[in-house]
Amino acid sequence: MSFLHKGIQALQELLFPARCLGCEEQLASSRPPLLCSDCLKGATTLPPPFCTCCGTPLPFGDNHLCLSCLEEPLALTRARSSFLYQEPISTLVRQLKFNGNLTGLASLAALVQETAAFADLNPPDLILPVPLHIQRLRERGFNQSLLLARACFPEWQQRIRFDLLKRRRPTVPQTRLSGKARRHNLHKAFCVQQPHTVQGKHILLVDDVLTTGSTLHECAKVLLEAEATEVETFTVARSGAAGTGGRSVSQR
Ligand SMILES: [Zn+2]
Ligand SMILES: [Zn+2]
Repeated sequence: MSFLHKGIQALQELLFPARCLGCEEQLASSRPPLLCSDCLKGATTLPPPFCTCCGTPLPFGDNHLCLSCLEEPLALTRARSSFLYQEPISTLVRQLKFNGNLTGLASLAALVQETAAFADLNPPDLILPVPLHIQRLRERGFNQSLLLARACFPEWQQRIRFDLLKRRRPTVPQTRLSGKARRHNLHKAFCVQQPHTVQGKHILLVDDVLTTGSTLHECAKVLLEAEATEVETFTVARSGAAGTGGRSVSQR
């Protein structure tokens, strides 16, 4: 950084001090993540043990397959997340998703890169953000999963493709439904646009939050039908605490 640039930045920080995105406390630096030390404490990473497939935190033992994955395997090989979906991560995700807050995005990416969430994922040939339906995309103006993919994987920009997976019809959030309605909601909701492009490829699906895992499961299903070799997933956060965060079979 040049002397002049540093000077301008110092002046900016003096005139417009950065504030914590969690509690608005004034911060000494404008470098992301914009969180004070108190709010940072809530950004809980997910230590092992967890399910080797769906990534659900497990109460004890080594990493192993959880009961849900044993009983009804997911289409995806591995689902990994950096954080639990709680304050301040949930605030940053909401600020990005509903207000298009790019400072929130930079802060999330900076936090993600400090975690070891990708450690056991294979290097992907293609990175696909979970798509929004065109109607939702028009309302929101952007797909937060695409922004997250670009911010979290800066070294893999060329592998990010937002044109290969399509959401064919609008769906309602899975958390508002139960059982049969959930399965019906996502049935044939996604399709692959250029099957030959995903054929024989290792795919990494990216989304903001894993809630039930059913959206990622449905996306992985159509990608495998198009003969992708393997589908792994990364979400910034996942909901639920140890022992309760995973999907249950009925949630799929
Ligand atoms: Zn704070
Ligand atoms: Zn599992």
